[in-house]
Amino acid sequence: MPSTTPALSLPSAGAPFEAIALERRDLRDDDILIDIAYAGICHSDIHTGRDEWGAAHYPLTPGHEIAGTVAAVGSAVTRHQVGDRVGVGCLVDSCGECESCKDAQEMFCTKPAVGTYNAQGYDGEWTAGGYARQVVVSERFVVRIPEALGLDEAAPLLCAGITTYSPLKRWGAGPGRTVAVVGVGGLGHMGVKIAAAMGAEVTSMSRSDAKKDEAAAMGATHHIATGDAAAMKAARRSFDLILNTVSADLAMDDYLRLLKPNGVLCNVGLPVEPLSVTPFGLIGGNKVLTGSNIGGIAETQEMLDFCAEHALGATIETIDASDPGAVDAAWDRVVAGDVRYRCVIDTATIPG
Ligand code: NAP
Ligand code: ZN
Repeated sequence: MPSTTPALSLPSAGAPFEAIALERRDLRDDDILIDIAYAGICHSDIHTGRDEWGAAHYPLTPGHEIAGTVAAVGSAVTRHQVGDRVGVGCLVDSCGECESCKDAQEMFCTKPAVGTYNAQGYDGEWTAGGYARQVVVSERFVVRIPEALGLDEAAPLLCAGITTYSPLKRWGAGPGRTVAVVGVGGLGHMGVKIAAAMGAEVTSMSRSDAKKDEAAAMGATHHIATGDAAAMKAARRSFDLILNTVSADLAMDDYLRLLKPNGVLCNVGLPVEPLSVTPFGLIGGNKVLTGSNIGGIAETQEMLDFCAEHALGATIETIDASDPGAVDAAWDRVVAGDVRYRCVIDTATIPG
């Protein structure tokens, strides 16, 4: 008999959250039962839950920034023990055998990889995410949260942390390199912190100066209000790397102009509309326009260890979900760009 756990669920697009008893599968040999302590609210939860990307499957329990402790383990589990502090990010399964899985890039599994929520597992069951008190996940997709990080500040690292760490590392953020992070939200504020800890000279870019001082405290030594045309003009040819974390459409040409020759503009934001870019904006300076999708499991562990070493927890607001409407309200605040800088649900407050 599968057990149930209190969870928050969307019955349909546009409906408010309701508290439900969510079924979790019995532990398989390689499974871990996690008592979730905190679940971060990622903007992807909102794109999905409001069916902005299409293909949402209801009822839907979002959440792919999960931090908690191991409550039970299957008979063949070797990587974690009861009581361990652990996390789960955006993936809960992959084939383990294709070229991408063998290359530690499980997100590109050809089978394909199974998302933590709104995805069909290989058993045909729909996955349900971390807005819940418990989750069952194969040990291959469970990472260790270092003691130096609180579970609340660690939860957002499971998506916002890895999604910024991976491209910053890949494209060489480090000493002597100038990096701009566009959008100081959940991903963006971690991008600023991580790029600064990697040793890069970091510029935060936001719609206004409202987040300037806090971004400076996170490690940004310069700030640009993107609505300030003169400041945008003055910043032309300044950056080796721009990481765009904005959840809405941006004119790529405006940002390509800010790159030095051979510079890289990496998109991680996922608005619905196609990006538009003029070919001249790319060839003048051999610019690279690219994207990045979360990161593999081994790199997620590496990122958590890096964040622990540099004391880089997320800057969070904790959401009490005893009234599920508080999570709907938090979603509205995320969309308004009002959160400083990531909401995490205290899952113990979920009714049930
Ligand atoms: P978030 O917390 O809402 O942050 C997005 C930031 O974008 C806001 O804080 C705001 O920054 C800026 N922004 C919002 N609306 C804007 C607008 N209309 N014009 C200009 N700037 C605007 O979201 P998030 O959780 O960081 O996620 C950001 C995006 O990344 C989402 O689209 C999400 O789906 C995507 N994502 C991608 C991956 C991946 O693997 N590639 C993983 C996770 C998330 P300012 O207030 O500073 O201007
Ligand atoms: Zn996410």
